[in-house]
Amino acid sequence: MATNEYEGVLKKIEELTTNAGQIQDEVLGEILSRNAGTEYLRGFLHGQTEKQLFKKNVPIVTYEDLKPYIDRIANGETSDILLAEPITAFFLSSGTSGGQPKMTPVTAQVTKNCELFRRLYESPVIKHFGDINQVGKRMELMFARPEIETPSGLKAASVSTSIYNESNFRTILPKLYTSPIETIFCPDPNQGLYCQLLFGLIQRDEVVTVGSLFASTVLRGVKFLENHWQELCYDIKTGRLSDWITDLGCRNAASLVMKPNPEQADLIENICNCKSWEGIIRKLWPKARYIGCVCTGVMRQYTAELEFYCRGLPLVSAFYACSEAICGINLEPLCKPCDVSYTFLPNMAYFEFIPVENEHDESIEMKRNDEDTELVDLVNVKAGQCYELVVTTCAGLYRYKVGDVLMVSGFYNNAPQFQFVERKNVILSVDQEKTSETDLSKAVTEAKALLDPLGFILTEYTSYVDTSSAPGHYVLFWEIKGKEGNHCKELDPKIMVECCSKMEELLHYTYKIYRKRNIIAAVEIRVVKQGSFEALMDYYVSKGTSLSQYKKPSCIKSEEALKILDSRVIGKYFSPKLPL
Ligand code: AMP
Repeated sequence: MATNEYEGVLKKIEELTTNAGQIQDEVLGEILSRNAGTEYLRGFLHGQTEKQLFKKNVPIVTYEDLKPYIDRIANGETSDILLAEPITAFFLSSGTSGGQPKMTPVTAQVTKNCELFRRLYESPVIKHFGDINQVGKRMELMFARPEIETPSGLKAASVSTSIYNESNFRTILPKLYTSPIETIFCPDPNQGLYCQLLFGLIQRDEVVTVGSLFASTVLRGVKFLENHWQELCYDIKTGRLSDWITDLGCRNAASLVMKPNPEQADLIENICNCKSWEGIIRKLWPKARYIGCVCTGVMRQYTAELEFYCRGLPLVSAFYACSEAICGINLEPLCKPCDVSYTFLPNMAYFEFIPVENEHDESIEMKRNDEDTELVDLVNVKAGQCYELVVTTCAGLYRYKVGDVLMVSGFYNNAPQFQFVERKNVILSVDQEKTSETDLSKAVTEAKALLDPLGFILTEYTSYVDTSSAPGHYVLFWEIKGKEGNHCKELDPKIMVECCSKMEELLHYTYKIYRKRNIIAAVEIRVVKQGSFEALMDYYVSKGTSLSQYKKPSCIKSEEALKILDSRVIGKYFSPKLPL
């Protein structure tokens, strides 16, 4: 983006945020005037387009409610049963943080919004770090998944795959990124990753940012590098690609640029061949100005480890979006991951918010149904309050619950800024108690601090409710790593038992009451071998999830996924006493 162009985009952000209320009304007005005649909306609005009628009559829905319409379109009916604008394709959500992958309609307007969004979220980054496009390349780990063709002939692909397929992206790729297109579309993600790291290392002097869509993928890349750096160096030294890379696209791409480079290989070997990998990203890519990836929400658990590997390089979470809607951008790219807020863009969708009460607040006797709850408009949300996000889009989603809970951290002009709190549907429950992603994350964050002084870090965790014996109990799978290469077999069992107790102490009031009444049994930590969470990721990728969009489940619900972790357990620890 040229300087005057990004300044123009910053001005646009000022305009959008200043006129947020008016723009929201216009966005809704346009969606309704275009779509009031569709089969879906006719049933509620009878052809009318007034905002008040929309709020009164159109129900708040989940994907399951809209799925029959989407399936009908995928099976060949015309899109106008749901929306007036023709559907050009579908986006497939990753489906790993909640349940099954979802298909959401894509239209020409959606594609236009995506292009504008990219410029909107990149401008604050350019303002702080300079126009990286002008000075070097991005080493971004990217993975496409094969498209699915619906019976109607429409294509369905993850958002990231759709972007990688765009002709615009393919044109700018060789100039702005280190990864050739063949490595992104390689059907075997491991071969693709190996090659992307190889190309990133060969061009290390040109690399000005390192990243991926989500923090977990960047970490996956670093761990892969830990296991493969010697082989990569050998390939760089000899100018020959390893034999196990059988993908022809990758081999062709490599043959165009690889030539023996023993000096570069020696430099990389010296960097990697040290005891501690602290700051390795910075050492390998010395011109990198920041690491770009989403570090909030479920990705927050990876930030401590990423910070270890990038020592001092800022982690930049530039945007908040989902396959269903584009939501907000980060206007302060330099702020710490735990403080990141996303300023909502009022032109991207019509946003409403369901106030969320604190699940464990004893003063609340009964939770209200969504139908009884008045939804709040974007500009009327209150600072400090949590809300569940509901979107109405130009692509046929009307009052659709995204499933994310957000907290208002402030306002930029008249547009609210939100911190991501949690996925709504991820909860552990043995009896009547409900433990959310945030409850669990708070307990784990404090408990894992006990490992720190002993030189160990918790690199990954997930949870599960074990009801195979009565009473049921919470199980946490922990993957632990020694900071200086020390092995987790050296971990003192006493500390692990203490971690169990600490977690129970930090869980909410209802949990503790039930625990004291023996309705819930003691928390268990199952320590798993190194690489277990990579195996989990491989499993989901083999089931069709895009590696670029993969989000590890906070709570395991699939039998097969459970087996993967259970077969790698190397130690089990229980809380020895009741929580205070
Ligand atoms: P997908 O539909 O597969 O693209 O996944 C979208 C989901 O990823 C959202 O609903 C959020 O739960 C999560 N997500 C996306 N961006 C962020 C972000 N910046 N911070 C936290 N979670 C995010």
